[in-house]
Amino acid sequence: MEKEPRGQTDFIREIIDEDIAKGVYKGGRVATRFPPEPNGYLHIGHAKSVCLNFGIASDYNGTCNLRLDDTDPSGESQEYVNSIIEDVRWLGFDWDDRLYYASDYFDQLYEFAVKLIKAGKAYVCSLSSEEIREYRGTLTEPGRESPYRNRSIEENLDLFSRMKAGEFPEGAHVLRAKIDMASPNIVMRDPVIYRIKKVPHYRTGEKWVIYPMYDFAHCLSDYIEKITHSICTLEFENNRALYDWFLKELTEGERPKQIEFARLNLSYTILSKRRLITLVENGYVDGWDDPRMPTVAGMRRRGYTPEAIRDFCARIGVAKKDNLVDISLLEHCVRDDLNERAKRAMAVLRPIKVIIDNYPEGKTEEILCPNHPQKPEMGKRSVPFSKIIYIEEDDFSESPPKKYKRLAPGREVRLRYAYVIKFESLVKDENTGAIKEIHSTYDKNSINSDTSEGKRVEGVIHWVSAKHAIPAEIRLYDRLFSIPDPASLGDEFTDYINPDSLRVMDNAYVEPGLSLASSKDRFQFERLGYFCLDDRYSRPDRPCFNRIVSLRDTWGKILKSD
Ligand code: ATP
Ligand code: MG
Repeated sequence: MEKEPRGQTDFIREIIDEDIAKGVYKGGRVATRFPPEPNGYLHIGHAKSVCLNFGIASDYNGTCNLRLDDTDPSGESQEYVNSIIEDVRWLGFDWDDRLYYASDYFDQLYEFAVKLIKAGKAYVCSLSSEEIREYRGTLTEPGRESPYRNRSIEENLDLFSRMKAGEFPEGAHVLRAKIDMASPNIVMRDPVIYRIKKVPHYRTGEKWVIYPMYDFAHCLSDYIEKITHSICTLEFENNRALYDWFLKELTEGERPKQIEFARLNLSYTILSKRRLITLVENGYVDGWDDPRMPTVAGMRRRGYTPEAIRDFCARIGVAKKDNLVDISLLEHCVRDDLNERAKRAMAVLRPIKVIIDNYPEGKTEEILCPNHPQKPEMGKRSVPFSKIIYIEEDDFSESPPKKYKRLAPGREVRLRYAYVIKFESLVKDENTGAIKEIHSTYDKNSINSDTSEGKRVEGVIHWVSAKHAIPAEIRLYDRLFSIPDPASLGDEFTDYINPDSLRVMDNAYVEPGLSLASSKDRFQFERLGYFCLDDRYSRPDRPCFNRIVSLRDTWGKILKSD
C-alpha cells in the first residue's frame, strides 16, 4: 500500500507506520491527543507537542483530541482552560467535538481503582509521605514493603470508600498499586495512585476529596478515549512500565502505547510553567501575554504568526535526545514568513528634525511608495512629503566614522522614495549642546529614483513628514534572558533577566496611513524590523507598535557560514 504523501517523517511516524503494517490497531486507526494540564498558559514547547499530535492525526487521517488533563485541582483554573482552547485554535488546529476533560472521568477512574483493589493489586497504605519515601529505597537499594501492604481486600475497599467520603484528613492514607518493592525501576515500587486532597476542583467543585495521580489517570484516560499513540516527553520514559501495567491489569482490547520524545528547550528563555508563573506573579513581565514571554499568547501579541510557529516546529523535528534549540532559528522563521506578507511603511524611532530650506513653505506632495518592493501586486500607498521632516537620530553624524553612508556635514543622502537632500547647517541647544534641528536643501529633480534612475547617492534613509506623521509609542524587545541557558539555573534564574529586553520609544512617529492599521496587520518599518499594533497600549490618538523581530538575521548568518 502506498503511504499518504506527507511533509516529513520521524521516529514516531516510523513506529506508527510499523503498527499500521502489522495491523496493531484495527483498520490502521491512528488516534492521538494533546493533554495539557490547565495550570498555566501554553508555551512554544507545548506548541511543538500540538503540532506533533495534530500533525500526525492529519497525516494518517486520524483524530487528535484536546484533553484538559485536570486531575490535580491546585493551580488549575477555567482561565487557563480558556487560554489553552484559544491558543490551540490560533495555532491552526481543530479537534471537532473532541474536547475532553480528565475530570469527566473521575467516576470511571474511581471504579478502575476499586477493580484493582478487588483483584488484590492495590492497597490503602497509612504510612506518612516521608515514610513512603523512606521505604521506597534508592537506585542501588531495593525498597521495603509497607506494613499495610497485606490489608485484606475488604478492609481496603472499606478504607478507600471512606477516603472518598472525606472521613480522613489529608495525608492519613493513600491508595497504592501493589507491584514490586524490589523492582529496579523505582516507579514500579508500589506507586501511589490516589491521595486525599481537600481542595475544590474548578469543575467538580467539592465533590471529590481524593484525586488520582497522573500515572494512573493518564493511561486510563487514553484508554477511555481509544487513543492509539500517546506521545509524551522523555521524562516519562521510566513511567512507561507503569502505564502498561495499569492497562494490562485493568483493560482489554486495543490499548494505547506511550511514545516519548525530547522536549523542546529554547535558548535565552525558559519553558517551565512553574517558572513562567514566577515571572508573571512577581511582575517581572506584564502578564502571560507579555510579548517577551515564550507563551503562545505572548508570541501572538508580539506579532508572530501561527504559520511561522508551525514552520519552526516542523524544522526542529522530533528527537529522542534532549537538546537546546537556538532561539535565532525561531526568529528566522518569523522573518521568513513576515518578509513575504508584511507591508512596508516608514517610522522614525528617535526623531531629529530636518528642515529643507529650499522646499516651498506650506506645500505637500503625495509620494507613491510600493507596499512591497518585490511584490507589485501588493500595490502602492501615498505618503505625504513636506518642508519639515523627521529622520532617525543616528542617521546623522556630525563627525562620521569611515564608511558612514548617511547624512553628515557636506554630504548628501537619499530620502527613501523621495528626494536627495544635502546638509547645510546645524542648530544646537545653547545650554545642552544637543542638536535641535538640521538644515538642508533638496534637489528637486531627484525624486523617486533611489534605485537606478536619477541622481545616485550612496546612502538611503527613511523619514516621515513632521506635519503629517502620527506620534506613536514603539516597543522594542530583546531576548528575555541575557544568558543562553537560564533553564540550567536554580531559583536565581530571575537575576539573569535581560534589563534591555524591553525598550519603550515614546517619542516615535509613524507615517499617517498607519492610523488605519488593525491589530491583524503586520508591517516592515523600513530599516527597523517588523512591527504590529499592540491593542493593550494603543490609544486612539497614539498607536503603540510592538517590534515583532528586527531585520538582522543571525540564524541566516549561521546557515551561510556552515
Ligand atoms: P511543565 O514541565 O512546564 O510543568 P508540563 O509538561 O507539565 O509543563 P503539560 O500541561 O503537562 O505541561 O504539557 C502538555 C503536553 O505538552 C504534554 O504532553 C507535554 O509532554 C508537552 N510538553 C510540555 N512541555 C514541552 C516541551 N518543552 N517540549 C515539547 N513538549 C512539551
Ligand atoms: Mg505535565
